[in-house]
Amino acid sequence: MAKEKKSELEKLGEKLLFKKKNGWEDIPKKEFDEIMTLSEDYKKFLDVSKTERETMVTAEYLSKKFGFVNIKKAKKTDKKLFLSYDGVCGALAVIKDPKKLKEGLLINGAHIDVPRIDLKQFPLYESEDMGYMKTHYYGGIKKYQWVTRPLALHGVIVTESGKSINVNIGEKPGDFVFTINDILPHLAQDQYKKTPATVVEGEQLNILVGSIPYKFKTGKDAIKLAILDHLNREYGIKEEDFVSAELQLVPAGGAKDVGFDRSFVGAHGQDDRICAYLGMKAIFDIKESEINKNVMMVFFDKEEIGSAGNAGADSNIVERMVNDIMQLYGVGDYNALIKALENSKLLSSDVNAGIDPEWKSVFEPMNAAKMGYGVCLTKFTGSGGKGGSNEAHAEFVADIRKAFNRDKVLWQTTELGKVDQGGGGTIAKYLAKYGMDVVDCGTALLSMHSPFEVASKADIYHTYKAYKAFYKYL
Ligand code: MN
Ligand code: MN
Repeated sequence: MAKEKKSELEKLGEKLLFKKKNGWEDIPKKEFDEIMTLSEDYKKFLDVSKTERETMVTAEYLSKKFGFVNIKKAKKTDKKLFLSYDGVCGALAVIKDPKKLKEGLLINGAHIDVPRIDLKQFPLYESEDMGYMKTHYYGGIKKYQWVTRPLALHGVIVTESGKSINVNIGEKPGDFVFTINDILPHLAQDQYKKTPATVVEGEQLNILVGSIPYKFKTGKDAIKLAILDHLNREYGIKEEDFVSAELQLVPAGGAKDVGFDRSFVGAHGQDDRICAYLGMKAIFDIKESEINKNVMMVFFDKEEIGSAGNAGADSNIVERMVNDIMQLYGVGDYNALIKALENSKLLSSDVNAGIDPEWKSVFEPMNAAKMGYGVCLTKFTGSGGKGGSNEAHAEFVADIRKAFNRDKVLWQTTELGKVDQGGGGTIAKYLAKYGMDVVDCGTALLSMHSPFEVASKADIYHTYKAYKAFYKYL
C-alpha cells in the first residue's frame, strides 16, 4: 500500500513543533545495553555510598582508579585532582591549563546529603522493658513513610581522645537492623483523625534497639545499661560519646531494579546521589582531548537543610576549592580567584519531580518532567511566583540546549509542579552569588524524599550524556 501523503499541517508541525521523545523509542541494541550497564554501576555506587562521608570515600576510591590525585599530595604537574573537606564534601577537577583558571571553570555541582533520620545526641532510653533510641529527622521527609521498615545505622562516633569509629550496621546478610514501630490498625481510631503531617509525630520516630536486661536480671535501667555495655564492648564507647557522633538511619538493603522489564532503579538517597554519581562518572569517562576548559565536579553537603554550614553551598566552600586549586599551580591572587568564579559556568545538578499518574493534578503536563523522556533542564525553581529561585539567563540556557543537541542528549524542560502548588529550591542561587551563570539540570524521580525513590534508567543514561556534553561544549 502506498504511503499516505503528509498534510500541510503535519509538515508544518514537523518543522515547528518541539517533540518530546520517549527514551526507549527506537533505540538500537547497543544503546539499550549501555543504559542497562550504566544503571548496574550506579546501583553498586548507591549501595556503598549511603551517607555523605561514605560517598566521599567512594569518590576518592574511584577517582584514584582514574588517575586523580588528592590535592594535598598533588604536584604542579598533576592535572586530575581530588579535593575533600572534613570528609563530607569535596570535588574532582580536571585542570587542563592552570593559566586559564582565571577564565573560569565548568562546574557541575550536586549534593551528597539525603533526607534521613539522625540519632539524637542522647538517644538511648528504655520503656516498657524495651530499649529505644530517639531521633531527629534530617530534611523534608514524610514521617509516616519511615515506620515499620528495616533501618540500617551508618555514621561515625568521635571519642574524646579524637578516635573516629565507623558504624555500619544492617547492610550485610545476617546483620541485625532497627525499626520504628507503628500502631496496629485495630487501635488506630485516634491516629486516623490526625493529618498526614502528624499521623506519626517527630518525637515518635524512635527506633527499637533491644530488650534483654543486663545479666538477665531486671531492674532500673537494666536494658539501657545492657545495650551500653554491648556498645562499650563492641566500640569502646560510653553514653557521652553519642554527643560527638553523626549516626544516620537509612533504609537497610541495596538498590533494586523495578518492573518486569527492569526499566527503573529504586533506592533511597537518589536525590541527589544520582546527579553526584553521573557527574562524577562523566568526568571520569571524558577524554582530555574532548574538553577545552578546566572542569570540576563538586559534592555539597547540607542541601537538604538549606545548604547551611561550612560544607553547604551557602558557604564559601567553592571559593575555597578554586582557591586551593589556584594555589597548587601558583596562579592565583584574590582578584584572579574572584574572576575565576565570575567566569565559571555551573550546572546545579539536582533531581526533579516526574509526573506521577496517580497525582497528576499537581503537575502542569506541558512543562513537567515525564519519566523516561530524558534529563530535566530547569530554568527556575522556587515557589509562589519563582520566589527564592535563581532564574537562569536565556543566553546560558541557549548554550546548554545547543550542547545537549550536539550530542543527541534527550532532554525536557521541567517545572516543580503547577504554579502555586508548592515548590522547592536547590544550590543554584547560592553559587549564582559569585556572578557565574547557573542553571538547574538533573534526573526526574518518583517518590522523591521517600525511603524508596524511583528513577528511569533511560533518564539516568541521558543525564550522564548531558553532563558529558556540558564538560565538552560549554
Ligand atoms: Mn536535591
Ligand atoms: Mn531534596
